[in-house]
Amino acid sequence: MNILVTGGAGYVGSHACRILDKAGHDVWVYDTLELGHRQAALKDKLIVGQLGDRELVPQVLREKKIDAVMHFAAYALVGESVRDPAKYYQNNVVQTLNLLESMRECDVRKFVFSSTAATYGVPKEMPITEASDQRPINPYGFTKLVVEQALRDYAHAYDFGYAALRYFNASGASAGGAIGEDHTPESHLIPIILQVALGQRKEIFIYGNDYPTPDGTCIRDYIHVDDLGSAHVKALERLEPGKGIEANLGTGTGTSVLEVIEACREVTGHEIPATIGERRPGDPPELVANSDFAQKTLEWTPEYMTIRPIVESAWRWHEANPRGYATGTTVS
Ligand code: UDP
Repeated sequence: MNILVTGGAGYVGSHACRILDKAGHDVWVYDTLELGHRQAALKDKLIVGQLGDRELVPQVLREKKIDAVMHFAAYALVGESVRDPAKYYQNNVVQTLNLLESMRECDVRKFVFSSTAATYGVPKEMPITEASDQRPINPYGFTKLVVEQALRDYAHAYDFGYAALRYFNASGASAGGAIGEDHTPESHLIPIILQVALGQRKEIFIYGNDYPTPDGTCIRDYIHVDDLGSAHVKALERLEPGKGIEANLGTGTGTSVLEVIEACREVTGHEIPATIGERRPGDPPELVANSDFAQKTLEWTPEYMTIRPIVESAWRWHEANPRGYATGTTVS
């Protein structure tokens, strides 16, 4: 299929592009490069533009004979969404609805959407299934939930076939080591810890150790970015008009902040000093996926089931590219 990947120069999108490409799809990357990196995009496949551009997007959809859109482009920082919700609603909701309008205009009705565990808020039961209530506790989670609801309605009314894939904690770097995680500023746990190992930070601040978890630190379900990519390809190949696939993407294993730090110490051989700090507002104590539905429906099994190989892949990338894409890494 001919696939347009919005946010294809970003972290999860760039990994998905390579997996799509390997699976034999013809991939076009559509990215503003505001947060994405030119070097992360597939070579000679990058189109720079805004999501909501109602001239350029239809032109690309027609010229490239696009069959499906994979939509990764979004702002995704919880804290920022609390401070500046307008930025999130404008981009994640308004621009996405504009993208969907362009698709309707061009009769492109297949859509794979990056959703998030943040749509569940603070769930009552753990692990989280797709039947768990979706009650976000921050604007970021709400923006994703609004689009999920729009997709349900578009599937019903306009015969869209969609997948809303709810990621848990995307992590790691491509097995080949060519691409990885590079956010400015960095706010995610694993890259920050690895920056300590690289000598770029003095220590890691643990956001609270008084949570109701066995070691007091927050528990998350870390899912390798290539496993996310392979789930997207499988979802794409199973889309049906008028139907939606809504699935959690995680490993089902919870790992605490202290356990992640320990894995990073083992992998890097660095002592990685850690200091207990305040809780970060908006952090639920525990988020772990029940991903049985994805495993069954998509016939998908994550390859990285524990934190250690995830950290190893991330470390390969960070060690080789200590300044991320700024080192001038060239990839294809
Ligand atoms: N975390 C931390 N120190 C940091 C960054 C993150 O203790 O410098 C914790 C954070 O509170 C959360 C976990 O690490 O429990 C994962 O955070 P991250 O920002 O990577 O992902 P999120 O769970 O917010 O999507």
